[in-house]
Amino acid sequence: MLTGKTASKGRALGKVFKFEKKELHIKKETCEDPKQCLKAFKDALAKSSEELRALRDRTLEKLDEDHADIFEAHIEMVNDVEIRNQVIAMIEDKKSAQLAYKTVTDQFIEIFEGMEDEYFQARAADVKDIQHRVLSHLLGEPIKDMSMVDTDTIVFATDLTPSDTANFDFSHIKGFVTETGGMTSHTAIMARAYNIPAIVGVKNALNQVEDDMLVYLDATDNKIHLDPDDATIEKAQTAIKADERHLEILKEYQHIKTKTKDGVHIPLFANIGSDRETDVLDENGAEGIGLFRTEFLFMDSDKMPSETEQIESYKKVFSAIQPVIVRTLDIGGDKALPYLDQDKEDNPFLGKRAIRLCFEEIEMFKTQIRALLKAATDQNDLRIMFPMVATRDELIRAKNIVSEVMDALAEQNETYQKTVHFGIMIEIPAAALNAEQLGREVDFFSIGTNDLIQYLFAADRMNSAVSYLYEPFDPTLLRLIDTTIKAAKATDTEIGVCGEMASNLDTALILVGLDIDELSMNPSSILEIRRALSKIPMDALKTFAEDVLEQPDAHAVKACIKRFKESFDM
Ligand code: PEP
Ligand code: MG
Repeated sequence: MLTGKTASKGRALGKVFKFEKKELHIKKETCEDPKQCLKAFKDALAKSSEELRALRDRTLEKLDEDHADIFEAHIEMVNDVEIRNQVIAMIEDKKSAQLAYKTVTDQFIEIFEGMEDEYFQARAADVKDIQHRVLSHLLGEPIKDMSMVDTDTIVFATDLTPSDTANFDFSHIKGFVTETGGMTSHTAIMARAYNIPAIVGVKNALNQVEDDMLVYLDATDNKIHLDPDDATIEKAQTAIKADERHLEILKEYQHIKTKTKDGVHIPLFANIGSDRETDVLDENGAEGIGLFRTEFLFMDSDKMPSETEQIESYKKVFSAIQPVIVRTLDIGGDKALPYLDQDKEDNPFLGKRAIRLCFEEIEMFKTQIRALLKAATDQNDLRIMFPMVATRDELIRAKNIVSEVMDALAEQNETYQKTVHFGIMIEIPAAALNAEQLGREVDFFSIGTNDLIQYLFAADRMNSAVSYLYEPFDPTLLRLIDTTIKAAKATDTEIGVCGEMASNLDTALILVGLDIDELSMNPSSILEIRRALSKIPMDALKTFAEDVLEQPDAHAVKACIKRFKESFDM
């Protein structure tokens, strides 16, 4: 059995297809008949363009113009006059077409890789992609054609690029396993966009499977069962059928607002970590974005994203859906930036993290605020949220920095959004206990239960040795959340939850019963929770939550939830 990081939930049973990009080696360096070699070169360009046009059309049909544009750019590169002329000159000089094309494109790759600007660095990957395609034709070793797949298949790969996945026939491709990649990798985003189970970061996966080996990919449990026995196959088939039936039922809830049985609207928002994840909002029925974790844009890059790059990314998100709660950088703790020179700390989770680090790295923080204000010029609802605020002083300081940035923009005659709705994460117990004072300074709160739990019980969220203390069902935590919600209501401050407790049906029911205004979650949890809420009236949820708060410990809370759900046939 293999395991990795679940990038897209679900289950699939299928045969292994090892998607390996072969290293292409130049077989011939010289050319005796330049006319013949020129013809071979032009044929290879024509075949490559033809393939890319087919990929573009298929992508347009299955996804959208943005994704299809990638191939438009590749077609242009294949037909680039400068590359073409240089290759032709080398062929006329009796070099083989293979050698000429590789030499010229290698030079372009080197130039792009050496450029400061990240946009041009990314172009190096595009040239590599087309180089591989054209060379595969010149060498007579065309790329393995995934459209030939005619049985349920799980693709195993080192990583998958956009041109790889665009060639996939998703009526047969049922899952992805990749050796590299994280939650925001291209594979992860694609898998979520197509609703295909995927486990990424599986070390050495390709060496442990053979083509056509049967595999049960259980991305609900982060497990890949190789060559499963009959009992496992039967279990898998039953679970997959049940998933399919369940998905059909959930689809009915895709385009409606989330309401309790008696019609109380509780917006369900999505948590996202990159502008690419806006792809999955509609199919999961998100009513907005309740947490945009902006630090991933910084973590996915090997240098600080510029103001322009940030503006581009924020604009994409703002134009995809409204409202959007943008969280300013939450770097530190487990989220390091390799290019930011930081002193080593003994307790990083209790150290210079999030807003504390932003006060120190003031230029980084101000650039992000500038980018947000400039990106939101057309938005009338810019919501900026500061993470890890412990005291009122910190909050005032952060707001003052935004005012300073606005003043500077005004002085420079820049266009920017002048109205900002401020919010903070409530993820430190001191902030929860001081919510009434903090509420007078902000428009909204979002409870970050992932951190609130670790700081309340002094139990590292990453350390499995103390996971018994990391308990979302503990009534002490629930009472603290209740106090915070009451303080928010007393000060007219909107209050939501964006930690994992919002994504879990059991805890989501408690939160709604405690009178939370919105929940922001993993997009794939939205429809499930919307469906459950539609079956329960608000009064019942409130009585249930009161009952929960009276319980002595987490076991009793869980028993209480079980009884409650059973009373609604859940
Ligand atoms: C949280 O702490 O609950 C939260 C949503 O933030 P993160 O998981 O990014 O720390
Ligand atoms: Mg947090």
